[in-house]
Amino acid sequence: MSKSIIDSAVNYLVYMSDKVFRLYDSLSRTVKPLVTQEPNHLRFYSCGPTVYSYAHIGNFRSFITSDLIVRTARALGWKVTWVSNITDVGHLTQDDVADAGGEDKMERALRSKEGEHFNNVWELAEYYAEAYRNDWARLNLTEPEIRPKATQHVREQILATNELIEKGHAYETPTGVYFSVESFPNYGRLSGNTRDNLMDAVRDVVLDDNKRDQADFAVWKKDDKHLMQWYSPFGWGFPGWHIECSVMARAYLGDTIDLHSGGEDNKFPHHECEIAQSEALTGKQFCDHWVHTRFLLVGGEKMSKSKGNFYTVRDIFERGIEPLALRLALMSTHFNKELNFTEQTLADAAGNIQRMKRADAAADAALEAARLGPDELGETLATLYDEALDAMCHDINTSVALAKALEGAKSISREADKLSLASATSAKKFLDQINDLLGIVRGVAEVPVPVAETKVDEALILSKIEERTAAKKAKDFAKADEIRNELLAMGIELRDTPNGVEWSAKS
Ligand SMILES: [Zn+2]
Repeated sequence: MSKSIIDSAVNYLVYMSDKVFRLYDSLSRTVKPLVTQEPNHLRFYSCGPTVYSYAHIGNFRSFITSDLIVRTARALGWKVTWVSNITDVGHLTQDDVADAGGEDKMERALRSKEGEHFNNVWELAEYYAEAYRNDWARLNLTEPEIRPKATQHVREQILATNELIEKGHAYETPTGVYFSVESFPNYGRLSGNTRDNLMDAVRDVVLDDNKRDQADFAVWKKDDKHLMQWYSPFGWGFPGWHIECSVMARAYLGDTIDLHSGGEDNKFPHHECEIAQSEALTGKQFCDHWVHTRFLLVGGEKMSKSKGNFYTVRDIFERGIEPLALRLALMSTHFNKELNFTEQTLADAAGNIQRMKRADAAADAALEAARLGPDELGETLATLYDEALDAMCHDINTSVALAKALEGAKSISREADKLSLASATSAKKFLDQINDLLGIVRGVAEVPVPVAETKVDEALILSKIEERTAAKKAKDFAKADEIRNELLAMGIELRDTPNGVEWSAKS
């Protein structure tokens, strides 16, 4: 029988299987079947990162939820069109309020210490977008079909803004174009932050006295000083964060999509505003199924730089932790519960990855040895895989799915030296299936971590060295030390040699 005939037979069986993919939906606040408009084709949009710095482990917890949803849908034989964006403009610092205020995160990053590595905000965006894709690959997430950038779709965002004005859902003020929340009665359905109880969300933020209602939010910001700006019928400026996702989802997936995901912090205002804009534009329901991954705590507390419990994905890699162990740690708790990330979580995950890898190596060795004998594992492993897939179909129950994967790995490793060729073939099939479903057996080949290139300003260094030599001659050693430390902070080391001062950039 040809492979394609076997494949279609398998797909038919999957289609006929009684598995229903159920997922917690934040909109109806129930676990309900994931229904696609086109049978067995999932159109899925997930909010990606704002690329102003390295992604932290909480960001990736949410991205891994999306990855697991896609893997489960594919295991059921569905086709998946997954769009996950990159935000590279328009995300302001005060993003938890109804109408965000503050600065563009990209601009602020350029002015920070890390920003000194970049010539401009575009370079900074490109660098962190690349770093993000790299982390993504190392954590073994499947690649989305489309990964659009907000700055690639500004034209559509301007057209959408115009259309919202024409339809009476948005209006122009001297500082921008605002969406009128009053024009959309369903505002607040997702988050519970309706117009009547928005007071908490809009406290302290009065951005524009010309706004009709303080709950109205910006679709376009007028700003001819902004580092990334475009010309529009409303003047020079940049798009609001929310309109970017409304436009990108529609451009690639159509007016109505099957599933939308993001982090818990995206629910309000980002997703609430996306719904309002998208539905105001099309007059159709935007999305009927919303998945939000809860926060990640470190040591029982919310991550924060000031508390010293803030970790980027890279911070963990740099400690020599295997990427798959971090992946497993991040998916060890149900997405709808807070995950308390501890050293123990990481250690347990690392141990379990080793168990999966040992089983994989044992299966490889037994394939090589090609011992005669019956298939003693096939039936057990097929049942375990089926149970793991069942668990994933039941609201991405990763704990049960992982338990089944480990049980299978244990039964393979227990017989390691005796496995027949037939058993080894079944073992390999099981591990391949588990790897496709959960991504915890084999990662992609090691991806090198890109390092930001340090721009060395030689003239500046030489003038500092001269200044330091002069300070030493004047016996102002405090000043000389201060200059040495200043250079050290820039990554430049000095050495006093008999031939004068030599300098080198720290690697
Ligand atoms: Zn978004």
